[in-house]
Amino acid sequence: MKHAFAIALVVALFGVQSAGNGHDASAAAPQQGTQAAGVYRIRLGSFEITVLSDGTHPFPDAAILTKPIPGTATRALLFRSDPNEADTLLKEADLTPPTEGSINAFLINTGHRLILIDSGAGTLYGSCCGHLLTNLKAAGYRPDQIDEIFLTHLHEDHVGGIAPKGRMAFPNAVVRASLADANYWLNARHERAAPAFLHAQFEGARISLRPYIQAGRFKTFSGATELYPGIRALPAPGHTPGHTFYEVTSNGKKLLIWCDVVHVAALQFPDPSITTEYDTNPAQAEQTRRRVFEEASRSEVLVGAMHVSFPGLGHVAKRAKSYAWIPVEYFRPSFAMNVRRRPPNRSLLRDPPATRLPVLCEQRKPRRAQFQVRLNIARSCDRLHPVAGRSRHVRSYEGWHADCIGPFRKACTSLRSRR
Ligand SMILES: [Zn+2]
Ligand SMILES: [Zn+2]
Repeated sequence: MKHAFAIALVVALFGVQSAGNGHDASAAAPQQGTQAAGVYRIRLGSFEITVLSDGTHPFPDAAILTKPIPGTATRALLFRSDPNEADTLLKEADLTPPTEGSINAFLINTGHRLILIDSGAGTLYGSCCGHLLTNLKAAGYRPDQIDEIFLTHLHEDHVGGIAPKGRMAFPNAVVRASLADANYWLNARHERAAPAFLHAQFEGARISLRPYIQAGRFKTFSGATELYPGIRALPAPGHTPGHTFYEVTSNGKKLLIWCDVVHVAALQFPDPSITTEYDTNPAQAEQTRRRVFEEASRSEVLVGAMHVSFPGLGHVAKRAKSYAWIPVEYFRPSFAMNVRRRPPNRSLLRDPPATRLPVLCEQRKPRRAQFQVRLNIARSCDRLHPVAGRSRHVRSYEGWHADCIGPFRKACTSLRSRR
């Protein structure tokens, strides 16, 4: 009897406890199957930039990427003409085709105006994409607050979001695009002359822009133009006739939004000659890419890229015969946000360390200077040979890659012996 009472007591207590908790801790929590909102913010001078994800989609690398055939003026599909190069580069990035293509857009809050650069695909790419409006709301804004939309070009994945299902999404916005792109993509004669796979792009531009044209809120511009104080349109033709970069400057800080310069980062940074079937003029697109890679690596400008993995913010580093993408570090500011300017001592990423180190060792306060040099190299080393936390081991070289230790030691030893 006693025994039965004890069991009843335990059951009762357990029952009470269970009810008190409201859930059974050992039960499986449902998997969520989605990401948190695609919103990433930085501060650029007095501007606040919010990168908005429109979604990602499997990029048809094999069907779209092209490359010049050596000794000819023609191009062929990369995966047919040089499958080894494609496989090797993708393997180096630990990827297999199809790669996942991000579609990013950039919202600039100048403090006075809300300006959206590109709008994603809207309903034109299917359910993968068209999440810009959801993410805009998650970022704290309503579509009717957007004052201006500057389009980089009129391909579906950039213009489609201004009018999903052909209905105006931004009721108070003026939409601007280059005259060259408007003249091309809104012209039936060009559509008839274009290959069939491009017809959807013409239609996408037409139906997306229609409500804004009817409302008298579609405006074009030509050449390099300041569209708003601190936001400058720069012609970058090739991908499309009026393909445009936007250079955003505030209080001396700069962001270059370069749009469709890169579709597959793992392939086109190492080999800028890789183009796409969607380039209106592939040779010119390649030329534009080479030019902007070179300029961006020299100036160390912060780049905003529409099709580099979200949030598509980073820097371009020059290698011996190619380029590399250095994504910005993720950070979550607790109070005021400051842009993580260029990574420390990025010159080490461009030149072989040995050529730069003597200069660094010659700083006035040798001890402190050399500590700083080590710190800088350690951080650069983290980027060249990523291993988490290496840059913390500044004093000991622990975990340093041989590429970084050797040149540093050699350069500083020879420098000291000359003193
Ligand atoms: Zn495009
Ligand atoms: Zn695009």
